[in-house]
Amino acid sequence: MLPNQRLKQCLPLKFKNGSQVRQFSKPCVSCGEMLQANDMFGIARLVENHIAIAAKAHCPKCETEFGVCCIIDDEKKVRRLILPQFAFNLYLRNLPLQAAEIEAAAAPREIEAAVQPASSAPSVVKTPANIQRADEVIGSYQQKPIPAWVVVDGQQLNFDRVSPDAQVAAGEFLLDGCFIYRG
Ligand SMILES: [Zn+2]
Repeated sequence: MLPNQRLKQCLPLKFKNGSQVRQFSKPCVSCGEMLQANDMFGIARLVENHIAIAAKAHCPKCETEFGVCCIIDDEKKVRRLILPQFAFNLYLRNLPLQAAEIEAAAAPREIEAAVQPASSAPSVVKTPANIQRADEVIGSYQQKPIPAWVVVDGQQLNFDRVSPDAQVAAGEFLLDGCFIYRG
């Protein structure tokens, strides 16, 4: 699960169409003071062509705390979501890394923050005899190239996702300790 952090740490976020969200502000529900991303603690993520935000805002002026739960589309239109901030926050933090986030190598801070401490449950991975990597690279993660597919013991598996904590499901293959491939 991704950690909560100051929303400022999550920005800027870049859409596929090139437009970027560098700042996010919202008036305090109590006193109207304009709060910035630095006054909000939670998570902001790219989900397909939307930025989803679930955070707790803290007004430095009147000390009011309130939930912020919204979606920003790639034309920067903001839609408020009518659901509990904590539920949406948990959902977003548990969502596997999205292709757009993997491509966003420009924001390594965010991916770095997603890496769990080494204490997470060890996963049992048998070492196959023969691994062949595709020359075709579809991106990179922590300076490591991501091959589009691998052939493991004669079976071709396609790249599925990045798993920073090396969580592997049945039938999946873990490459370089963080890339998940499946048939
Ligand atoms: Zn206030």
